[in-house]
Amino acid sequence: MPQDALPRAALPQDAPSREDQTPGAPPQGAAAVARPTPMMEQYIEIKAANPDCLLFYRMGDFYEMFFGDAEVASRALGIALTKRGKHLGDDIPMCGVPIHAADDYLQKLIALGHRVAVCEQLEDPAEAKKRGAKSVVRRDVVRLVTPGTITEENLLEAGRPNWLAALSRLGGGDGPLGLAWIDISTGAFRVGEVALAALPGELSRIEPRELLVPDGLLADASLSPLLRALPGRNPATAVTPLPRVHFDGASAAERIARFYGVATLDGFGAFTRPELSAAAAALSYVERTQIGARPPLDAPRRETAGAAMAIDVATRISLEITRTQGGERAGSLFSAVDRTVTGGGARLLAERLSSPLTDPAEIARRHDAVGWLLTEADRRAALRADLGGAPDIARALSRLALDRGGPRDLGAVAAGLAAAAEIAATLDAADAPQEIADARAALVALPETLATMLAEALSDSLPHLKRDGGFVRAGHREDLDEARALRDESRQVIARLQGTYAEETGIRALKIRHNAVLGWFVETPQVHGEKLLAAPLGSHRFVHRQTMAGAVRFTTPELAELEQKIAGAAERALAIELTVFTALVEAVVAASEALKRAAAALSVLDVTAALAELAERERWMRPVVDRSLAFRVVGGRHPVVEAALRREAADPFVPNDADLGPPPGEAHGRLVIVTGPNMGGKSTYLRQNALIAVLAQAGSYVPAADAHIGVVDRLFSRVGAADDLARGRSTFMVEMVETAAILNLATERSLVVLDEIGRGTATYDGLSIAWAAIEHLHGANRCRTLFATHYHELTALAGRLARVANATVKVKEWKGDVVFLHEIVPGAADRSYGIQVARLAGLPAPVIARAKAVLARLESTGRTGTPSAALEDLPLFSAPVRVAAPPPPADPALALLDEIDPDELSPRAALEALYRLKAARTARPVEES
Ligand code: ADP
Ligand code: MG
Repeated sequence: MPQDALPRAALPQDAPSREDQTPGAPPQGAAAVARPTPMMEQYIEIKAANPDCLLFYRMGDFYEMFFGDAEVASRALGIALTKRGKHLGDDIPMCGVPIHAADDYLQKLIALGHRVAVCEQLEDPAEAKKRGAKSVVRRDVVRLVTPGTITEENLLEAGRPNWLAALSRLGGGDGPLGLAWIDISTGAFRVGEVALAALPGELSRIEPRELLVPDGLLADASLSPLLRALPGRNPATAVTPLPRVHFDGASAAERIARFYGVATLDGFGAFTRPELSAAAAALSYVERTQIGARPPLDAPRRETAGAAMAIDVATRISLEITRTQGGERAGSLFSAVDRTVTGGGARLLAERLSSPLTDPAEIARRHDAVGWLLTEADRRAALRADLGGAPDIARALSRLALDRGGPRDLGAVAAGLAAAAEIAATLDAADAPQEIADARAALVALPETLATMLAEALSDSLPHLKRDGGFVRAGHREDLDEARALRDESRQVIARLQGTYAEETGIRALKIRHNAVLGWFVETPQVHGEKLLAAPLGSHRFVHRQTMAGAVRFTTPELAELEQKIAGAAERALAIELTVFTALVEAVVAASEALKRAAAALSVLDVTAALAELAERERWMRPVVDRSLAFRVVGGRHPVVEAALRREAADPFVPNDADLGPPPGEAHGRLVIVTGPNMGGKSTYLRQNALIAVLAQAGSYVPAADAHIGVVDRLFSRVGAADDLARGRSTFMVEMVETAAILNLATERSLVVLDEIGRGTATYDGLSIAWAAIEHLHGANRCRTLFATHYHELTALAGRLARVANATVKVKEWKGDVVFLHEIVPGAADRSYGIQVARLAGLPAPVIARAKAVLARLESTGRTGTPSAALEDLPLFSAPVRVAAPPPPADPALALLDEIDPDELSPRAALEALYRLKAARTARPVEES
């Protein structure tokens, strides 16, 4: 394989074997049975240059695939496999997709991780014919379509970026890895350094659709397990190995500078060598796949470590920030808070939630903007209405620059410019905060001439493809109007001609029609046609062209002449339209810097207005975020659970407070141990506080009456006993690996949320580990921590460690059942109510009764003896079952009696209590006979 050829987008675990390395290549026979046709020769040559891709070979209105490609594609796409001719004596398998539907098929193939080389006809077949009957139309690959390099509107998801990432490691050492990620569809380009341990977290934040890796690194022992875990995610990340040369560190800076046509990168800022290497590799892949076309990429922007809250993979999964554990968007934090109205806004919101900030000043800047739009309700409404009509300028621009755009992309830019002007006027206010003022400045900076130029040139309704014509407004150009008039006039002449012919021949059913093969022709039903053939009526004008089943077709000299005129005029009109198109595209591309800045500004405004809208509708409040170690939330709610309860019309969400800040006289935050029955709301409480930190630092208002948060540098959230069988690790092992990461990495600025850690092993093991972990978190990490546990023994730690406090969920017992109040209060749970919850869950009554007996036995021996000793003389299960008729239902009158405190009763209340007791007694079931 030549050094710069791209290998197939192989997933690391199914590295292609030698035989299927070039699936579309013809089998190699020892002796050529027959020479391939010239066309097949051309195909084989082009295929050989693109062995790693499925080759879409353009033939007329189809993309055809041959040999192994055809087999792979027909299976993947569910389309018929046919044959065409022979190669070395064997049939050549073939399948094809019509070009008008090619995008849909491309989408399927890309989603399956394939890469497609699109091979077009580079000349008119008529041109080829001139060179001789046997000559083949010139064709070549114009573009490689891969998961990370798509730009088509229907291949992309509006609300999601489409990142192409490159990972680089210079030298063999443990130094940081370089990571670069580009979204060709919008021009965004970021680079950064990442430690190996933090790589999974970074990749889960970025969620690249395609990851370029130096081919040598694929087999690397430290990386390959990690890369193997990637493709299973949703959306899957295709891992593409790339020859090492593309990552060459020595030439990287120069190659990047060449791409941007600058002498040095100094103007872009300072980058490290691994960053440059990754960036250069990503750029060379862009060049290679776009083949000459140049997307309008931003200059690479460096993301410094520490600027964003560090959130590792397990935490992202556990908190379901942008997708649920099942990989869905619905049900995630993102979907609960998303009120954006544009694709760009949705992308930016997801990005902000994925990368909350750590600089209080920057966070306050966002909060200021949200706050302003919250009070400026009229401006907000106008802004959102205008944004709703603003198309995705960034993506339209990218398609136009790549010569892949159509009239509708020009229309999108025009509409975007119009919306931008409206919005700039709406936001013209002296008191607008910085974030809003900056965004407005980007809109005001748009060249006015471009808007006018597009508005004047484009029709109101635009075709999808430029070759369909009709997108230039009537009156825009005189020569175009003339050509169109001539074309349309001739069409009217044809319509009149049909009447004349019908009259002259007396054939009422005579029609003048048009098709691509014959052009314009006269068609009559068979019977009449024969008449015309045998004895031409009137004159000799009808020349036979075709006899069909049931119809005969003719042409006439007048028709031929008109046809020429129409075709000439239509051709001229289209040619003029295409020059207009090219000029408009040039003007748009020339303004691409300003357009990209405006597109980014519109996204910022959309997110800000959406967050203001959310804050108003949901009564969210502005949090105070500073550099303290405070973590005080008053009346906090879980946005997803709250919305779910509302949807189900269930009881409303119960708000809860939290305070993890340093207690008086202490320098570090608290560790709060949360106990209480299952289903009480512990997990919800833990997560809502983590989500409030994410939202606050992302620049959003928060679902709480009040919140004060000292910037969280790292967020950890773990749920005990989560299964991860897919990665082949036992539940408990996963739990411990994740706990280890926290104990090693959490700082005093971190927020740690641990939910039932230690559950995955035997009681005493689990308890001991949890105990030691708390001591370590308290003494060594000294981070702010919420620790939910079912080990009541741990609550004793509050008495021994200065910054450990207990909290519990309040429950009420009612007629032997537990009622969850979902209220978190200080203190420890008195018991776990496990048996009551089991009863609610429908465990059979004998099992419940037996469990109670065992529990009573265990509790009576106290916590001194061993459980096995306590149970030694417990009667066998079978014995009590026979006698264990369901226990008599508790007498409701007795329960009521228990609630009465005679000292507190007024005479009147006492009388009412008596009535209630009497009523309860009457209602009592009579079953204890
Ligand atoms: P635990 O972790 O204690 O077992 P969960 O947090 O899983 O309990 O909560 C169980 C259910 O209780 C949730 O699915 C939710 O429907 C409800 N719930 C939890 N917290 C609240 C709350 N604050 N207000 C209302 N309902 C709640
Ligand atoms: Mg729980």
